[in-house]
Amino acid sequence: MKNFKQYYPTTVDEAAKYLKENPKDTYIVGGGTDVIGAMKDFILPTYPVALVSLDKIPGLTGIKEEGDYLIIGAMTKVEDLAMSDLLKSKYTCLAEAASRTASPHLRESGTVGGNLCQMTRCWYFRHNNNQFDCVRKGGSTCYALTGETRFHSIFGLTKMCAAVNPSDLAPAMVALNAVAVTNKKEIPIEKLWSFAVPGSTTLDHDEIITSFKIPKFTGKSCFYKASVRRTIDFPIVNGACAIDASGNARICLNAVAMTPHRCTEAEETIKGKSITESLAAEAGAAAVQKAKAIPGTGTSNEYKIEIAKGVIKKVILGCK
Ligand SMILES: Cc1cc2nc3c(=O)[nH]c(=O)nc-3n(C[C@H](O)[C@H](O)[C@H](O)COP(=O)(O)OP(=O)(O)OC[C@H]3O[C@@H](n4cnc5c(N)ncnc54)[C@H](O)[C@@H]3O)c2cc1C
Repeated sequence: MKNFKQYYPTTVDEAAKYLKENPKDTYIVGGGTDVIGAMKDFILPTYPVALVSLDKIPGLTGIKEEGDYLIIGAMTKVEDLAMSDLLKSKYTCLAEAASRTASPHLRESGTVGGNLCQMTRCWYFRHNNNQFDCVRKGGSTCYALTGETRFHSIFGLTKMCAAVNPSDLAPAMVALNAVAVTNKKEIPIEKLWSFAVPGSTTLDHDEIITSFKIPKFTGKSCFYKASVRRTIDFPIVNGACAIDASGNARICLNAVAMTPHRCTEAEETIKGKSITESLAAEAGAAAVQKAKAIPGTGTSNEYKIEIAKGVIKKVILGCK
């Protein structure tokens, strides 16, 4: 690694000031499980001269219901979500997503904010020493489109980038209609992600997520992750469904597109109906109607369409 400074501000304003004064080469660090690895492997387009840690800022951790919302501090560890009795009983899909994230060790270090802002795992993007000057790094080629695509996008594919968002917490947050609260504004969760590097988010460089707000939820919810190994593995496809007390569903898949993919066709399919095996399968088929595999030159990602269908079916049946 190259030398870099690490700042430990004690307020969000102080952290934002460091970021604002050094717009290009100062990055936020939560638990560091993503960003430090990226620095070790030299995959960031600009190598950070400094990291701004949020670790010493009070008030950024915790899980509590307050007024009409569940509030989760951005620096809360992923393991705390997995272990929370409140989440397990009322916001089940989020507790399930957390418990299926990485390994116990990584869950103890990784934060909720970092999980939602993590960079893509596209193997061209992540190749050591920036060997592939892909579009995310300012180049003009998406190497996946003509290369090995087995884990890449099946939705919203453009010539720009075929990488997917790998977060396990993201689909659960979308299903529960979360809002990211930053030092500048509130962002409805579906508007949090973009193509940007680092972080793949729409956040300004000096914008810090302080918490996530989820409207109090009284329905049923379920998360499912399809991966090669049980947990310490990124999803091939994951997904979450939340059905509220009035029968309205929010369903989201991830690892299928550049950003988490809301499945409105599946939501419409089950609206107002009682859940059965065949209805859940119908919703799965509706969800992947617009999916498209990338031919590539290696293993095609066509199998992901079938997996996505199955994930939708499972998360809907999990809400019965
Ligand atoms: C071996 C391995 C396996 C993994 N498996 C999984 C998995 O199965 N599922 C999964 O979802 N993830 C997985 N991860 C990815 C990741 O490490 C974890 O998701 C973790 O939760 C990231 O959190 P962090 O706090 O360590 O992030 P950091 O590395 O600290 O930050 C990640 C990004 O988020 C930005 N950031 C952090 N906090 C904030 C904030 N509050 N506001 C604005 N920006 C912020 C940082 O600038 C950086 O760009 C894995 C990682 C490794 C190394």
